[in-house]
Amino acid sequence: MSRILLHTARTWGRDLFGDQTNKHIVIFDSDDWGLVRNSKEAIESLSKDGLLSHADWFEKLDGLESADDLQLLSSLLHCFSDEYNNPPVFSLNFVLNNPYVIGTDSNYRIAFVKTRDVYSQRSECADILKKIQNDKAFQPQFHSWSHLDVKTYLLDLQTGNSDSRLFLKHGAIGCSSKELRPFGYMDEMRSFPYPKSMEAYLNAGDKEFFKYFGFHSISFVPSCLVVSPEIQKITPPPFLKIIKTGFYTYWPENEMYKKHFSPLRKSKNGLLFIPRNCDFEPYWMNDPINYCLSDISMAFLQKKPAVISTHRLNYTSRIPGNKRNENLDKLFLLLKKIKEKFPDVIFANWNQIESMLLLD
Ligand SMILES: [Zn+2]
Repeated sequence: MSRILLHTARTWGRDLFGDQTNKHIVIFDSDDWGLVRNSKEAIESLSKDGLLSHADWFEKLDGLESADDLQLLSSLLHCFSDEYNNPPVFSLNFVLNNPYVIGTDSNYRIAFVKTRDVYSQRSECADILKKIQNDKAFQPQFHSWSHLDVKTYLLDLQTGNSDSRLFLKHGAIGCSSKELRPFGYMDEMRSFPYPKSMEAYLNAGDKEFFKYFGFHSISFVPSCLVVSPEIQKITPPPFLKIIKTGFYTYWPENEMYKKHFSPLRKSKNGLLFIPRNCDFEPYWMNDPINYCLSDISMAFLQKKPAVISTHRLNYTSRIPGNKRNENLDKLFLLLKKIKEKFPDVIFANWNQIESMLLLD
C-alpha cells in the first residue's frame, strides 16, 4: 500500500474507531476519594423516617477512606507486577472540598471544608496523603472540586423545590428523591456558580490539586460524567491532557440530560478523551471478575487500553459486614487472572498511557 493510501486508511480508521494501541495496557480508575458523604447518624435518621429507600448505594454506604483501607489496597496491588516491575495502578480520583450547609429556609448557603483539613482532623487519616504520594500503585488525579451542583442544590433548598430540605433535616447533604434530580446534585459541572466557567473551574481545580499533591493532574473525570460539549473547545490548563469519560457522557439540557457517545479521540483543543471501557464494582455486580475480564478482552480486541472503572465504595470499611475484605479478595483474583490471560500486560499510570497512545 502506498504511503498516502496507508496514511488515509489510518486517518479514516482513527476517525471511525479512535486512537489505537497494540499494547495490553491496564489501569484502574477509581472515583470519589477524599469525599466525606453522609454520616452514619444521618443514615440512621433517614432510615428511621423511611427515607433510606430513596437513597442510592453511594448515599447510604460511601464514606471517607481510612488509612487502613488504603494500606490494605496498596499491599494487595504490590503483590503483582508487570514485566517492567510496575504494580497495577489505581488512579485515585480526588474530590478537593467537602460541602456543608449553613442558614435556613431562603437564607441557606453552602460552605466548604478542604479535604486536606478533613484528613488532618481525623487521627486515622493523619499520614494518608504521604502514603498516597509515595506509593507507585496509587496515582492521585483530579475528579471534582466539591462533587456538588451548588447552583441547583442551593436554589432547591432556598425555594423548597424537591425534597432536599427534608433530607438535609436528617443531616444528608446534596440528597433528594431521584425522580427530579437523577444524580442527586452530585453532577457538579452542570452549573457554575463557583467558579464561574468551565475554564475557571478546571484552572481552580488544577491549582488546588497542585497545592495538595505537589504535581499537576494530567487527567480529569467529570462528576457523574455530566459535562457540556464546551469542554472540547475551551483552553484547558497546560498540564491537563486527558478527559476520562464512560462510553457516554451526559450533556446538560434544560432540566434533563442528553446521552452522547464518547469514543477514544483527541479533540481540537488537544484533549485526549478516553472512555472507561471496563467495570469492576464487586460490591453490587454479579460475577464481577468474569464480567471485567470479558470487558478487558474486548478492549484489547479493539486495540484500546483497558480502563477499569471501580469506585472507592468497594474498598472502604464503611460497607457492611466483611464486604471490603471480600471485595479485595475478588480484586486479587481478577489481577491473578489478568496476569494469566495476558502475561504481557502493562500496568501503567495516566502519564505513561498518554505517551504510549501518542507514540503509536
Ligand atoms: Zn464521583
